[in-house]
Amino acid sequence: MGNWDRSEEGKVWYREYQKKFAHQYPERIRKYQKTYRQRHPEKMREKRRRHRIKYKEKIRKYNTNWMRENRRKLRKEVIEHYGNKCVRCGINDIRILNIDHIKNNGNQHRQEIGAYYFPKWLKKNNYPDGYQVLCLNCNWLKHLEYQENKRVELKVGKN
Ligand SMILES: [Zn+2]
Repeated sequence: MGNWDRSEEGKVWYREYQKKFAHQYPERIRKYQKTYRQRHPEKMREKRRRHRIKYKEKIRKYNTNWMRENRRKLRKEVIEHYGNKCVRCGINDIRILNIDHIKNNGNQHRQEIGAYYFPKWLKKNNYPDGYQVLCLNCNWLKHLEYQENKRVELKVGKN
């Protein structure tokens, strides 16, 4: 075989061939493309790079939307699993419901699970005990009461 496949005619022919027959021989085309990709990794890298630059905004938006949607679903799933309503006041408006660490060790736990999205972590660990659903109000009240108790404990400790 000569250099026909590297020449302009070769390229034009191949493009025409693809247009005409790609739908007839999808398997063959796929195979050819796979071999091409394996033979020219640097070209594929360059292509991906250009693609990334060209569609940067689009990709970013797509990823953000996907992540947001995914997180929304996960959060709903997890809250439903833990009872779907505030354990203190019974409100069931998902917009203000949150998963609460019963033992108030949220900060420490967040450090332990690192970058993991908390609801994702709960699901992955089969919804462990020690968590409950609280609305934002009750969460805040719990926090205040906790601080109050701590202060009382400190005072008692001093005396
Ligand atoms: Zn509540």
